[in-house]
Amino acid sequence: MEGPAFNYIELLNDPSLVVCKQCQHAIWPKEVSRHFHDAEHDLSRETVGQIVTTVEELPGLTQDSTQLNVPVAVERAFTSLRLRRDGLLCQIEPARCHYVCTTEDVMRKHLRQVHRASRYRRKGRPTKRQQKRQETAGDPVSWISVVCQRFFPSRQGSRYFQVRRSDEGRPRTADRIVPVWNQAVQIMGEKVKQAAAEQQRVIAEGSAREVNQWLERAGWHKYLVGLEVDKLLDCVAEPDEETERELWMIWRGMDDMVQECQKTVVERAGLHLRFEAVRTEQQQTRYTPLQGYMDRKAVVKHARPWKQILMFIGRTREEREWRKPKYKLKKEQKKAWKHLWRAAGSAYMRTQEVLDKESDEDGGEGPAQDERPPNALSQACLTFCFTLLRKQYVQTEYDNVLICGLAVLGVRASGGWTGADGYPPILSKMIKIARFMVIEQTFRERGPDISDSSSDDRSSESNTDSEPEDQDRPDCLTLVRKYMNEFMIRGTNGAM
Ligand SMILES: [Zn+2]
Ligand SMILES: [Zn+2]
Repeated sequence: MEGPAFNYIELLNDPSLVVCKQCQHAIWPKEVSRHFHDAEHDLSRETVGQIVTTVEELPGLTQDSTQLNVPVAVERAFTSLRLRRDGLLCQIEPARCHYVCTTEDVMRKHLRQVHRASRYRRKGRPTKRQQKRQETAGDPVSWISVVCQRFFPSRQGSRYFQVRRSDEGRPRTADRIVPVWNQAVQIMGEKVKQAAAEQQRVIAEGSAREVNQWLERAGWHKYLVGLEVDKLLDCVAEPDEETERELWMIWRGMDDMVQECQKTVVERAGLHLRFEAVRTEQQQTRYTPLQGYMDRKAVVKHARPWKQILMFIGRTREEREWRKPKYKLKKEQKKAWKHLWRAAGSAYMRTQEVLDKESDEDGGEGPAQDERPPNALSQACLTFCFTLLRKQYVQTEYDNVLICGLAVLGVRASGGWTGADGYPPILSKMIKIARFMVIEQTFRERGPDISDSSSDDRSSESNTDSEPEDQDRPDCLTLVRKYMNEFMIRGTNGAM
């Protein structure tokens, strides 16, 4: 599901609830406006309006507590709800009572009131000595520690429930493997929030607000502080055809590639695939499948942030003389970049050689690049973009070129920061195009060779989605699911 509102909310599927990403708890539909208007969220009136409208248009939401069934336990955590590791589960009558709370005092109260357990009548915690005596005396266990969650922070619906399979066993430090996309989105969200708060404060105080100062406060300094704003803006600008031939070709190759993606999404991908491609949580079913853009021209416009990221990489790699943001490319990324650069070079040569011939072949349809079959350059673009998204071992957030590039996209010409209103649209375009790429990659990987593609094969594929015609190749749905799990789904590595 798309739209700026989804930078602030997520949807649960069962029960159907809207969750505030910042607070990590659900909000009743009728309370959405009030919830987001408070100072904690620091959103513009317009943004809140967008969220309210979006929620109003969502079908089938649980409206109030009379419609809400709080489970006694769930197998897997809801990734958008806060995960509490300090839960206590009543063990007096485990088959009948599933009571969960988070403090011993509240548990004792429950034991007294519900189970009439006399030894908990006394107020207060037992002393260390009493506790020791109880433990060594082999008292039956009254409660156990569990991981738990709840939908709402108060009133109805705030009952805790146990999460049976938490990710307790996984490493919880920063060196775990994180889907790079999750990480980028999460970090950017944080930074934008901090930066926006900082900007407001600085302006209010009437003090200096040049980019360096508050980039530093916002935590970007490792990358961007001390770098010239003009240079940063230059390195994400549209390339010059005469002087930057490879970049110019890559820019156009990206246009070709996203238009091929759009075409595939609209013409070949079935409903199942498009639903799969908008999933943001592992257990979730979204209400609306991935949509192509209404206007095919809009595709090119929406691909701009991606193109800018590639320009950023190109210029920081190929130009040596200026002080530039630091990032590292992984081996796989370097290889794909080299390949892309070469493909761009030879594509440029080709355009010079066969310019006339090609315009004949196009049959006078105008530039219509989207009508051409996928070419080597657009394939190289797709391959390289994919390496940016892949799951990888991330040492620090700043090692990641995608995050670094996104930081640069946040720099404004006036020397300020794009801020909380300007940034989410950039991210949402990045994400939507990334979803397009997942589908496109899937079809290219699964589909017949471009050279021998028959239209029959294609149409049968688009209609079935999940039925492989030959057993050796994974079907499209499996591939999309694999990629979505790898880098698009949030929370696949446990609660953040
Ligand atoms: Zn909230
Ligand atoms: Zn109980």
